[in-house]
Amino acid sequence: MSRVLIIGAGGVGTVVAHKVANNEVFTDIMLASRTKSKCDEIAAAVGGNRIKTAQVDADNVPELVELMKAFQPYIVINVALPYQDLTIMDACLECGVNYLDTANYEPKDEAHFEYSWQWAYQDRFKEKGLMAILGCGFDPGVSAIFTAYAAKHHFDEIHELDIVDCNAGNHGMAFATNFNPEINIREITQKGRYYENGEWVETAPLSVHQQITYPNIGERDSYLLFHEELESLVKHFPSIKRARFWMTFGQEYLTHLRVIQNIGMSRIDEVEYNGMKIVPLQFLKAVLPDPKSLGENYEGQTSIGCRIKGIKDGKQRTYYIYNNCDHAEAYKETGTQAVSYTTGVPAALGAAMFVKGLWKGAGVFNVEQLNPDPFLAELGEQGLPWIEKFDIDLEV
Ligand code: NDP
Repeated sequence: MSRVLIIGAGGVGTVVAHKVANNEVFTDIMLASRTKSKCDEIAAAVGGNRIKTAQVDADNVPELVELMKAFQPYIVINVALPYQDLTIMDACLECGVNYLDTANYEPKDEAHFEYSWQWAYQDRFKEKGLMAILGCGFDPGVSAIFTAYAAKHHFDEIHELDIVDCNAGNHGMAFATNFNPEINIREITQKGRYYENGEWVETAPLSVHQQITYPNIGERDSYLLFHEELESLVKHFPSIKRARFWMTFGQEYLTHLRVIQNIGMSRIDEVEYNGMKIVPLQFLKAVLPDPKSLGENYEGQTSIGCRIKGIKDGKQRTYYIYNNCDHAEAYKETGTQAVSYTTGVPAALGAAMFVKGLWKGAGVFNVEQLNPDPFLAELGEQGLPWIEKFDIDLEV
């Protein structure tokens, strides 16, 4: 019996629910979130009484434990917010449930991205014979699985890794974020950071950028950011000498972002307003478009991949592996845009890998530690086909 509990009913949760419901390896499905009506809407869109729903506050371990004891899932797919990772992991340990997520834990009061908090659960998951799979969206997620696949099949040593993430879609709004605005703005207003020769090099936020050409899209200005999978990838592939992450932003988006920062709306500390305490970035989230709502008029594609240099059989080699995903196609299938789609498809597929016994282990794992072959063999059928190019100019 492969019972799955999905927590979080946002854009990503919508895609996970659709994909899990279409996969017969999952026998019973429950979708739980803070606002039950959102779960009910998704369950109705999927249809066939395939999905049960529940209300849960995932910041509250006893509530999660009660839900897990009642439903008895085999695995939890956590697609709520990164703030809930640890409480959900605690409840999984208490109830003997396996765990999968798409983003590393972040404390609410500090925009800080590192795996230390979740890696600290290694012994507890191992002792209970449970598996926690970390970062199984697209990036982190497929980006790390692409790297593992390259290391397994195409390189003796990887020396340089550049993860390139382009969203060339147009949603017709002046400013909107493609996933949770609070999490998104916290991420991109941080200092940039990349790995070189055993050290982390910091750069001022969005100060390093270059033109990169993306397949079917063309040249786009791409900005160096820190992204969480860099931390685990340089640990698990120690031959890497340099690892960087690039993301495209349009000028209009960056201008809005600069204004948001300059007027204090990206602050994550509490301010007093009309006798109550509010966090400006959380208030901003309430007035920005809901990422889920962007899908309807979204056109264009995303293109995310890994550009890799290294050595095979004593010779230098370059390699590029990527997926392009079309916003309109993603919307037609699941009612969400490509950023939610490219995150939700790998999360659902990762859970299927676990349920089928193709990914197994006791402890806490980043996805690049697991066998990339069965996952990539199915990723295309699940809606995210991938393409490889060898010995080309990587531009980075
Ligand atoms: P949304 O904000 O659209 O959805 C988050 C959902 O979690 C909402 O339904 C929200 O409930 C629910 N939630 C928030 N807090 C709680 C809580 N305390 N208890 C129960 N439910 C809660 O976010 P997205 O769907 O865009 O993103 C989901 C996750 O995916 C995030 O962690 C994000 O970082 C990650 N992500 C990963 C990517 C990758 O490639 N690896 C890319 C994009 C996103 P409510 O509806 O009531 O607000």
